[in-house]
Amino acid sequence: MSSCSSVAQFSLEGIDDVQDFPGASEGGQGSSSMSWERYTHLCDLMHMGNNAFRDNRFDQAFEFYSRANNIKPSDPIILSNRCAAYLRISQFLRQRPPSASEYRPLSGLDPTTNAGLALKDAEKVMSLQSNSVTSYILMANALILLEKYEQARDVICSGLQIDPQSNPLLKLERLTASTFLRRSHLKPQRTDDYDCTLCLKLLYEPVTTPCGHSFCRSCLFQSMDRGNRCPLCRTVLFISPRTCSISVTLNNIIQKNFPEEYEERKTEHDSLTNPGVDLLPLFVMDVILPCQKLQLNIFEPRYRLMVRRIMEGNRRMGMVVLDSSTGSIADYACEVEITDCEPLPDGRFFLEVESRRRCRIIRNWDQDGYRIAEVEWVQDSSPPEGTTDRNDLLEMTHKAAAFARQWIREAQDAAQGNRIRLAELFKAEGLMPPSQDPERFSFWLTTLTNRRPSERLDLLRIRDTKERIRRGLLYMKAEEQGCRMQ
Ligand SMILES: [Zn+2]
Ligand SMILES: [Zn+2]
Repeated sequence: MSSCSSVAQFSLEGIDDVQDFPGASEGGQGSSSMSWERYTHLCDLMHMGNNAFRDNRFDQAFEFYSRANNIKPSDPIILSNRCAAYLRISQFLRQRPPSASEYRPLSGLDPTTNAGLALKDAEKVMSLQSNSVTSYILMANALILLEKYEQARDVICSGLQIDPQSNPLLKLERLTASTFLRRSHLKPQRTDDYDCTLCLKLLYEPVTTPCGHSFCRSCLFQSMDRGNRCPLCRTVLFISPRTCSISVTLNNIIQKNFPEEYEERKTEHDSLTNPGVDLLPLFVMDVILPCQKLQLNIFEPRYRLMVRRIMEGNRRMGMVVLDSSTGSIADYACEVEITDCEPLPDGRFFLEVESRRRCRIIRNWDQDGYRIAEVEWVQDSSPPEGTTDRNDLLEMTHKAAAFARQWIREAQDAAQGNRIRLAELFKAEGLMPPSQDPERFSFWLTTLTNRRPSERLDLLRIRDTKERIRRGLLYMKAEEQGCRMQ
């Protein structure tokens, strides 16, 4: 978002140095009930903290100040100095080049958290000494780092009433005046501040990265399929689609301020995860027949995107083969359901799928790199219940089922020692549908032998169950003979 750049260029005002802590000899102990030893230790901590701060070792300075704060809470000097350290750390993190993240990723506190901690300390200092201009300077700097410009301007105005000549406050006033004017001028309109820089639309399910940039969740992970860097500033990111949560506040702001556009974005998003009953995202790989189970390894970025969307929806996709003769996808596909989805840390997916029903592809088009098809669900022309044709078909199925059982037993005997083949046969046996469902059974029968893709495609096209059973039996007999001849 454009606001980040304005903060990155902003320089802190009045935070160049810290205040010295009054030493024991200077009577700083005052009326406190603290022992002399303890007070000396406190002075040492503050002395070391200030030295670290003046050496630009802000992390260490913050440690010393925090220890001092534990000994003497609610001391305005300790809190002011620690606040200054937070501000300098936040500013440092904001200004360091993104390439630095290659050597030291943003693993600790991010700039916004540091600015938030600075604001907390500044608020305490303000409550302890609201007549000191330092309190106002600290608070204004923290608010600006948090991009709370309107509140910062109020604090600056109050501070200037105490000291109208305060140089840091006058500089901060000039800075916020320009930012604030620019913003309030644009405010009534819907600005591109709420746009995702990837899809250029209103943020939907915004995710904010550790480097402070926000994107639609799906856009960010689509981009991260191609590398783990922030698409805007190139900071290396260590976040994963599964663990990353949506920025609730930002999402609420968007939903509240732009309700209609938000609804549009939601509809658009839903249509991608649930394309509709006759629309099927396609995984172009091979011809699958109904009644099969298989495992897939999804590594191509476009299919990772597709799988993420499918998993948010009905977990179904089509599997189709590329027709080598035409170079386009085949006219028939099979719907598969993802029964198990294991996302791997590197963004790949390991899937287990079961094929369900077949369909004819009416037309298909590109959707973010993968294909979506409008389909027509296809079934065999089945003779009505009670007719002779139907009874013939059921009888044929029963006979084929008996043959298949026998065939599997013989194949298992023949395959002793061949563990892969045995496992295949056991799996096939377990998937055998009841013979009361001839169409499903006929497909299963043809999966017992290994068929070429063109043959499998033909089996999908056929609408005559008997013909498919006949072919299945032929394949099995041919394979049996082949075995005997060997
Ligand atoms: Zn987006
Ligand atoms: Zn970034």
